[in-house]
Amino acid sequence: MSSSPAKELPVVAIVGRPNVGKSTLFNRIVGRRVAIVEENPGVTRDRKEVEAEWLGRPFLLVDTGGWMPGGSALDNKVSQQSEKAMSEADLVVMVVDATTGVTEEDDQFATVLRHIDAPHLLLVNKVDNSEREHLIWDFLGLGLGEPVPASALHGRATGDLLDLMMSMLPPEPEDEVAEDAGTGHDDGVPGVAIVGRPNVGKSTLFNRLIGDERSVVHDLAGTTRDSIDTVVETEWGDIRFVDTAGMRRKARIDEGTEYYSMVRALQSVDSADVALLVIDATEGVTHQDQRLAERIDAAGSPIVVLLNKWELLDSEQKDDMEYQMQKRLHFLGESPVLRVSALSGRGVHRLLPAIADSMEVYRKRVPTRQINQVIQLAQSAQPAPHGGRILYATQGATDPPTFTLFVNKEIPASYLRYLERRLREEFELGNTPVKMRVRRR
Ligand code: GDP
Ligand code: GDP
Repeated sequence: MSSSPAKELPVVAIVGRPNVGKSTLFNRIVGRRVAIVEENPGVTRDRKEVEAEWLGRPFLLVDTGGWMPGGSALDNKVSQQSEKAMSEADLVVMVVDATTGVTEEDDQFATVLRHIDAPHLLLVNKVDNSEREHLIWDFLGLGLGEPVPASALHGRATGDLLDLMMSMLPPEPEDEVAEDAGTGHDDGVPGVAIVGRPNVGKSTLFNRLIGDERSVVHDLAGTTRDSIDTVVETEWGDIRFVDTAGMRRKARIDEGTEYYSMVRALQSVDSADVALLVIDATEGVTHQDQRLAERIDAAGSPIVVLLNKWELLDSEQKDDMEYQMQKRLHFLGESPVLRVSALSGRGVHRLLPAIADSMEVYRKRVPTRQINQVIQLAQSAQPAPHGGRILYATQGATDPPTFTLFVNKEIPASYLRYLERRLREEFELGNTPVKMRVRRR
């Protein structure tokens, strides 16, 4: 607890019953470039506190382990934590699941929340597409105000959600303005995080990469305590591999519990520009691979997938792997998938060019004039419904490319997706996540 920030940041608590998508939302909001000020798995389950930031306003995001009315002793502890988090928060975001409708637990939860005197917001998660939007009205009955739809997994409407959340926080004290919550490391050297379950071949791959490049390699302190980054000079410029401590040494640092290796992996992804997700092809795409992929995806960096140990597969297994990729990792969309053998080095030479490509797009900045041309053309080809118009557009940020649209009235999400597609095609944004923000003029 000693590492808690002394300054008083507004606290946003994410609460709700298990499986509604709280962690996914948490990771989506935190995105990258955050300072993890505290990772406190708590006595029971994971309660995480992270300093995050939206449009220059820092805040503390708290993810409680869940809330279970009348459960076991362990569950009660979790519930107490949740209640405490709620009563101390400046804003409570209660998450529910559009696909399940209102459950009894949601009901009980809402009752508790209504009795705690904190500003709250009812978020209906898993509204992955506009067809699901009508599902939110089911939740009006919880008596927590108008439900707000979002998809934490796909990032749908999360920009609007953040805007809304910020508008509900107490006004910002003057002297806190303009403080940068970034992680430092803006040395211009792009960062790559190698992540994957234990034993998939991360160390073998890493050592192969730095060996093959015969490059000048130097270590530097990473962003988090006892992490070490390695900078490698390559044909494509310098690349910083994030948190390589465990990959360089023979004697491994203890990877610890699954929870800690997950936290560690996510931290390394947070301070990286590109994530390399290594999968052991001999085991197929496991449930853990899938979860890890979802969380990396939610962190908002481009992903390059490596199917390692490929040389051990017969042709039937190779076909099966294609099928599993389609079925379990379809949400990675256009991410490049490389089939490699880190042990023999086969296919590994394609990795650095793939990283370099991803990096370039991730940091791409498109001139405002060109953005507006594309938007205008898209609007003439297919106008937004009900007289909606995009008046002006800019790219508000890079890493990942973030477009801000100034509009005359509400624009349906399906139309925003259409515009996103056009921007993506026109500016060849490939596997990079793209954020769309809408401002009403
Ligand atoms: P938590 O227990 O509330 O923290 O829930 P998790 O974040 O672990 O999510 C539970 C499950 O719901 C996971 O399989 C997520 O991938 C999935 N999930 C989370 N958000 C969404 C979403 O927006 N859409 C869909 N379809 N699934 C989601
Ligand atoms: P990490 O825990 O992800 O860092 O995995 P390691 O790099 O330590 O590799 C785990 C095991 O897989 C070791 O025995 C490696 O020799 C083996 N391994 C790694 N890559 C390959 C590969 O491409 N093919 C085969 N057959 N074995 C591999």
